[in-house]
Amino acid sequence: MKNIFEFSREKLEEDLLSKGISKYRSQQIFDWIYKKNVLDVEKMQNISKIDIEIIKNEYSFEKMKVVDVKESSDRTKKFLFELNDGNYIETVLMNFSYGKSICISTQVGCDMGCSFCASGKDKKVRDLTVAEMVLQVVQVKDSLVEGENLTNIVIMGIGEPFDNYINLIDFIKIVNDNKGINIGARHITVSTCGLVPQILEFANLPLQVNLAISLHFANDEKRSKYMKINKAYNLEKLFNALEIYYNKTNRRITFEYLLIKEVNDSLTDAKQLVSLIKGLNAYVNLIPYNDTQMFSRSPKEAQNRFYDYLMKNRINVTLRREQGLDISAACGQLRIKKMRDDYGKRVDN
Ligand code: SAH
Repeated sequence: MKNIFEFSREKLEEDLLSKGISKYRSQQIFDWIYKKNVLDVEKMQNISKIDIEIIKNEYSFEKMKVVDVKESSDRTKKFLFELNDGNYIETVLMNFSYGKSICISTQVGCDMGCSFCASGKDKKVRDLTVAEMVLQVVQVKDSLVEGENLTNIVIMGIGEPFDNYINLIDFIKIVNDNKGINIGARHITVSTCGLVPQILEFANLPLQVNLAISLHFANDEKRSKYMKINKAYNLEKLFNALEIYYNKTNRRITFEYLLIKEVNDSLTDAKQLVSLIKGLNAYVNLIPYNDTQMFSRSPKEAQNRFYDYLMKNRINVTLRREQGLDISAACGQLRIKKMRDDYGKRVDN
């Protein structure tokens, strides 16, 4: 049986047409699911009995199991989902003045192996399906109450989105569809550690989705030491790809820079970052590192020194306000905790 959440509107129309269901009818179904959040086909009032039977026989509407929801003091919510095959993924819902933003996972585990990141402690088990990504949005949205609005999607949870590229693009098309969930492309951000071929492909996407690069280091020696991806695509290759991306899309690039104590937070690091990105239409998001057993967060003074140096050099920069610290909201931390509780599995975080 096919999972209904795998289908973009166009693909659903095509699939249903092959079963004798009109395009108009598939648009109504898409509307029930994504605009009205009605996930039970029997409750789709304007659909005929015959069509309901066909749909019930052909498609599964199965949701993911919610195993845990934790809410922090700042009302950040973290959802732990169990997948059909017993794997776990997590999704974070954050509050901002402009609305709510959801942080989506794209894989079970991650193969990128960044040494400071909790997600990569365990190798990738598998890619998430389109349905599993879409359901994170649908189910979290379903938990919102009257007056609460989901306005943004960041694809920065567990996994490397560009290592699951085809499903990622289908996911974006579904959540962006103005006849469905309708999150504007400019309100969707994909974050990558720097997979060059996919950055180049992403540049050709006819959608204005934001691109964020997990940079974290501004020289090759350090970046290669902590981020395996830099050995395949070093800073020169990455920045050449970003130049092509920028020339094609004209879209400002966001650089994420974790501040890790005595690892990448010195004045020299800040200077190298400035010379790397000076002149680019870029924006730097400084993120105080969430402590793990291996690394710790830069002290406030080091954070401020770094921030001030960038400001003084006219770099667009923000120091991210932190969310959900008390519910282990950093990448992969809740999933790892759950696995540890379940299997007594020893992981280093
Ligand atoms: N693979 C993608 C997206 C997932 S990681 C990427 O690398 O961009 C999302 C972000 O969280 C990355 O910038 C990652 O480096 C960062 N991160 C990893 N461990 C963290 C920690 N302990 N505290 C804060 N951010 C962390």
